[in-house]
Amino acid sequence: MSAQPTDGRVLALRDVVKAYGDVGALRGVSLDIGAGELVAVVGPSGSGKSTMLNVIGTLDRPTSGTVTIAGNDVDTMTDDELSLLRADHIGFVFQHFHLQDGATATENVADGLLYAGTSRRERHRRAVDALRRVGLGHRLDHRPNQLSGGEKQRVAIARALVGEPTILLADEPTGALDTASGAAILALLRELNAGGTTVVVITHDLELAASLPRRVRMRDGQVQHDSGTDGGTVPAAALASAIRGAA
Ligand code: ADP
Repeated sequence: MSAQPTDGRVLALRDVVKAYGDVGALRGVSLDIGAGELVAVVGPSGSGKSTMLNVIGTLDRPTSGTVTIAGNDVDTMTDDELSLLRADHIGFVFQHFHLQDGATATENVADGLLYAGTSRRERHRRAVDALRRVGLGHRLDHRPNQLSGGEKQRVAIARALVGEPTILLADEPTGALDTASGAAILALLRELNAGGTTVVVITHDLELAASLPRRVRMRDGQVQHDSGTDGGTVPAAALASAIRGAA
């Protein structure tokens, strides 16, 4: 696979359609995301947010349209090439953490490098570094059942970061957490973004979304509104009423 120049864009979707049988989960989505952006994706349940994130993360192939990640044209790639692309460029965080119960925090994070071809010792070293980065240097040998929800999500974020991805994709990362733990996870995502990581986060939390520099609102498988890169932030109440008004 050969990367093309990206013009500062890490991601481009063009006219992306994803159909599941008769259901048009995505119905012509075009979106550009630049290096270093922090983007909230909002919209009602079933509007296509997760499908779009899975297509961006190359977990799902579109039915039609083009997807370009860090200059790589995903459409022409084989499944093996896509696995490598994911290992190089994509970090995924999910609402329910998806950690292995029988493994320590360090082992869970080191697993994020399994496809990167690094030695066991190097994987371990980098996992410890990543856990320190997310504030869990004191929980290296803890297993998931010994960690709080917020800590589990930090482990999942460390696992997503350990391969130094170009883009971090988070699907409702605060959805299973109490308010305080959710706010701490958001603060961590902001901090990582300030350090240069591009972050795309799906959220139902309108206050959270309103505090982020760019918001993309989905509806019926399409981008209904994109505040754009110069969108600034809007008060949560205004965003909530705009979404209610559109619903
Ligand atoms: P959101 O994340 O906004 O809740 P989704 O992307 O999960 O929305 O879903 C968009 C639409 O696609 C919904 O109608 C959903 O039922 C449908 N859908 C999503 N994934 C699948 C699938 N694997 N098989 C069939 N339909 C799906």
